Amino acid sequence: MFNKFDSARRVQPVSTASTTKRASSTVDETPVLIVGGGPVGLTLALTLAHQGVAAILVERNPSTTTHPKMDITNGRSMELFRHLGVAGELRKVAVPEDHPFDVSWVTKLDGSELARFRYPTPAQRRALIHEWNDGTLALEPAMRVSQALLEPALKKILESRASQIDIRFGWALHTFAQDADGVDAVIRCAATGETRAIRAQFLAGCDGAGSTVRTGLGIDLDDIDPRRLAMRELGLRRLLPAAIRAYLSDRERPMDGRIFLIHFTSPNRELFEPFGTAWHTQSPEGWTLISQNDRDTWTLHTPIGVGTDADAIDPKQFLFTKLGVAFDCEIICANAWRPRLSLAAKYGHGRVWLAGDSAHQVVPAGGYGMNTGVGDAVGLGWMLAAILQGWGEHRLLEAYEAERRPVAIRNRTASARHTLVRLAIKTLYRKAIHSQGWNGERSRRRLGREILDLGNLENEADGIEFGYRYDDSPVICSEPHTAPADHMHAYAPGTRPGTRPPSLFLEDGGAVFDLFGLGFTLLRFADLDVDSLAAAAADRGVPLKIVDIRDSRARTLYERDLVMIRPDHHVAWRGNTVPDRPEAILDRIRGAAPAWTTRSAHRELVDSTS
Ligand SMILES: Cc1cc2nc3c(=O)[nH]c(=O)nc-3n(C[C@H](O)[C@H](O)[C@H](O)COP(=O)(O)OP(=O)(O)OC[C@H]3O[C@@H](n4cnc5c(N)ncnc54)[C@H](O)[C@@H]3O)c2cc1C
Repeated sequence: MFNKFDSARRVQPVSTASTTKRASSTVDETPVLIVGGGPVGLTLALTLAHQGVAAILVERNPSTTTHPKMDITNGRSMELFRHLGVAGELRKVAVPEDHPFDVSWVTKLDGSELARFRYPTPAQRRALIHEWNDGTLALEPAMRVSQALLEPALKKILESRASQIDIRFGWALHTFAQDADGVDAVIRCAATGETRAIRAQFLAGCDGAGSTVRTGLGIDLDDIDPRRLAMRELGLRRLLPAAIRAYLSDRERPMDGRIFLIHFTSPNRELFEPFGTAWHTQSPEGWTLISQNDRDTWTLHTPIGVGTDADAIDPKQFLFTKLGVAFDCEIICANAWRPRLSLAAKYGHGRVWLAGDSAHQVVPAGGYGMNTGVGDAVGLGWMLAAILQGWGEHRLLEAYEAERRPVAIRNRTASARHTLVRLAIKTLYRKAIHSQGWNGERSRRRLGREILDLGNLENEADGIEFGYRYDDSPVICSEPHTAPADHMHAYAPGTRPGTRPPSLFLEDGGAVFDLFGLGFTLLRFADLDVDSLAAAAADRGVPLKIVDIRDSRARTLYERDLVMIRPDHHVAWRGNTVPDRPEAILDRIRGAAPAWTTRSAHRELVDSTS
């Protein structure tokens, strides 16, 4: 039974520093029960630990994943990991910083390169970030790393640093039920069948695509079928001839939406990166080869056709056939998987909330799966901490959905768009690109040009990665009249409330992001008396750090004399004067404002200080 959360009721602050066993019973009590030890659950645990909140994390598997899955942690996630104090440690398991992110399109590994999209190495990107210093770039470069390496690194950091997080691998959430004050959960040990009861203030479902938590809440998934989307957007006139050509030339059956993955090691680096270091090597026939470490570990993803029995595929033979060459290798794992474009109708209710793949799933093109989930985890984490510590109120959780679900919708649209580009390139494939002589040469040149024309936005969409905004959040002092255009491809620095603020280095060389505190941070760019704001924060127990910055470039980029930054590095409010009623601002941003202050009252509040 999932009782509706009593939204009128204020959550009483509880001890957030430890997880305890209830005396005279076997019920473990904890502020937060995190279900799922994937990257999102682990990041949520880190965020809570950072905020001083205890949690129990249960993961049904005995260890972290061996499946390579994600291979890019984007700059925004790295900024958030930096704030959590773990970016440096995570980079130790990543591809070295002097390796590029190039994407190479080839006919075959031993054939010709059709097109190459060149991207700087993290080291070069770091130099650019310092050189440009105009707020357009993320503070941290993206990181190439396999999920199979990232998860253990996150887990190890938690185990070594976060004593208040009780990590239980090998334990699955079995059942749960919420009431107005908390959640009763039963967890079950996969190895022994033993069960235990847990009483939590909140439950976070970070349990991936098949989420027990989402199902338990009765929340539906809205699915876009990538094949129907392709049919609608690319049209039968384009898809059918391509499918017929593929069948006639290679007996290839039409794709049924599944991808076959082969994760393997091989010492033959030159064979896999014949045209120089490439992060992704892609073929217009449809396969993608991911270099996991530019050394000895690789993953091939290939669409498979209708009626193909994935279990009957011999991975080595499949690998050699697809890549057109045989070589020494060890298969780590091989299986079929089905990319999805799914979104949960709701992100939770009451005391039970979803984050990561339990709430949204995308096709990997663009790398928006885990990265979106990291944003969820950091967003949900600070809100739970604020409520549990008594300085935030329940409206924060309504805001969590209002903020994060539109981001997932936007990222799903972008992922679908990038997938269509890949498919469009597949429809341009002609066998002639493998021919010797003038016809082959001409076909390769033409296809190369077409690939370059279509571009590679999937690895360049700064607007998606950094430009997402919380326009409709009830806990942001939004400025409806100043909404700038929203572009997938570009991020425009600014401090409109709801945005991620621009990153830059100050005249003293320090990064402005490194000045942000655990709670709210008020950036003050002019000699203004903010005592009334500080007093209103203190009255409410809201942690507020006031940071004075006298730096003309920063003032220009930050657009106002006062800019309030949230714990998740989004702008909550800005103004050129201290508001007459600072408590109204604080109550809004900590989720305590009465159900939507009327629009005009809100506008007055914003206008009076802009
Ligand atoms: C081939 C591929 C490439 C990808 N590339 C990228 C990329 O480059 N960038 C990117 O951002 N994303 C990428 N993704 C997506 C990314 O892998 C997922 O978005 C990410 O794993 C989601 O993390 P999560 O923690 O939400 O869920 P998961 O990683 O699915 O973790 C959920 C965890 O919950 C556990 N669990 C489930 N049920 C229970 C239960 N009842 N009790 C306890 N534990 C439970 C599971 O065992 C699992 O460990 C890729 C995915 C694939 C398949």
